Amino acid sequence: MAACDYCADAEKGEKIFEDESVVALMSSQPASRGHVMVFPREHYTILEQVPDFLVGHLFAVANTISTTIFEILRVHGTNLIIENGTAAGQKTAHVAINIIPRSENDGLGFNWQPKQFTDDEMATAVLQLQEASKNVGAFEEEKKTPLSLDKEDTALPKASEDDYFLRQLHRLP
Ligand SMILES: [Zn+2]
Repeated sequence: MAACDYCADAEKGEKIFEDESVVALMSSQPASRGHVMVFPREHYTILEQVPDFLVGHLFAVANTISTTIFEILRVHGTNLIIENGTAAGQKTAHVAINIIPRSENDGLGFNWQPKQFTDDEMATAVLQLQEASKNVGAFEEEKKTPLSLDKEDTALPKASEDDYFLRQLHRLP
């Protein structure tokens, strides 16, 4: 038996999209028509646990599906929402991007009243976050599977690859 609802859904269910690492399907509790959930096939509770290369792929898939929703369902906008932690409204302990199609005056409430903070409160928060954000950009890369030297039939012959680039060079004026 699967550990959580999304892990179970990844095994069955009608999917909008799937590959080896990401699954997208219609939300069972849609905020609007066309509400899609995009989540990693592997079980991660919150975004912090997802490796960077998978975060990138997850958002690339979500962006493509969001674009498709715009074109096919002819909506005016989409919200991409991650409920990261129970305090943020997360009910299933498996990280997911909600893609919620939006239309003018659809009555969905994702707006908030801006709050006022003192200059000191804001300056302190800025300093703390700047310091803590110094590692942003140090991305975790996917581990490459080493090429097997035994499989000669699948390996690209080195010589012909070189020839190809040489031919390209010779074409240069
Ligand atoms: Zn799960």
